[in-house]
Amino acid sequence: MKIAELSDKILKGDRRALARAITLVESGRSDHRAEASALLDRLASSGRQALRIGLSGTPGVGKSTFIESFGMMLVAQGLRVAVLAVDPSSARSGGSILGDKTRMDRLSREKAAFIRPSPSQTNLGGVARRSREAVAVCEAAGFDVVLVETVGVGQSETVVAQMSDLFLLLLAPAGGDELQGVKRGIMEMADIILVNKADGDLKSAAMRTCADYSGALRLLRKRVQDPQGFPKAQTVSALEDAGLLAAWEEMQTLTAWRRDQGHWDRMRAEQARYWFGEEVRQALLSRLETPWAQSRMTELSDQVSSGVVSPAAAAQDLLAGLGVSG
Ligand code: GDP
Repeated sequence: MKIAELSDKILKGDRRALARAITLVESGRSDHRAEASALLDRLASSGRQALRIGLSGTPGVGKSTFIESFGMMLVAQGLRVAVLAVDPSSARSGGSILGDKTRMDRLSREKAAFIRPSPSQTNLGGVARRSREAVAVCEAAGFDVVLVETVGVGQSETVVAQMSDLFLLLLAPAGGDELQGVKRGIMEMADIILVNKADGDLKSAAMRTCADYSGALRLLRKRVQDPQGFPKAQTVSALEDAGLLAAWEEMQTLTAWRRDQGHWDRMRAEQARYWFGEEVRQALLSRLETPWAQSRMTELSDQVSSGVVSPAAAAQDLLAGLGVSG
């Protein structure tokens, strides 16, 4: 199919064209990359914007249960919802989150929903680019909300936060009074912390955990994109559909304020800047992955280890060979 035709179909909401376009942006083949770029340029002219919601949480916290319940609630309000995943572990295992899950089966049967598992890639940079481009394709396809899920490990939160308008951190009720070892950097990214499983026996623990996090959030440095009262913590039960509407209302309040104050556009502009830098870094790093670079690197590192050349001189030598002056 020609790119122009594919683009027209996506803009009209054709799901098969959408799936095909995402396969295209996920492809590592260089001819596909060129087509994907052309497609993204065309789609960008639609000017459509979805609300992009990033969602992170450790395995077992209830992400897929939450996405299913929350997604169903949005669909019931007449909204179209796309769900994508950024899964750094798929880079290692070749597996993917969402893909092997059957729990989102109610949502996946909805006409107004589109669920796409994480692409398998060899590095997070690759996963990041493909996910970001898949978000752009979903926006052009007219989805109102694009949810991007990630497992709470390593660098993936930053990647997801940088492609989201809102970042949600999903937590489970803590047993004791510790703050579950959530890294400060991750907390600082959150716009709303949702303490899940606030039901049955876990309800009071969830309320305590929520109070602890509300306190911790108040101590964080104020960000310019936060209105009074944000970031905030709330309890939800994805299993019992409790608190989801309240959480959605908070997200809308926050979004409306940010749009009104110009932060929405400013944040997206900063994200574009961030991704430009990442693309440059990734492109430079990929130059090290060619067979020539790999073997030259081995040669030079042998020379460095035996003291024949200094590390700095060897690095200059390698860079010069790559056509990059140090
Ligand atoms: P994920 O690994 O973060 O995607 O977590 P899942 O959605 O697979 O949920 C992990 C487990 O927690 C499952 O057994 C769910 O049924 C359970 N769970 C998810 N949400 C809730 C909730 O709101 N309340 C309770 N009690 N259990 C939940």
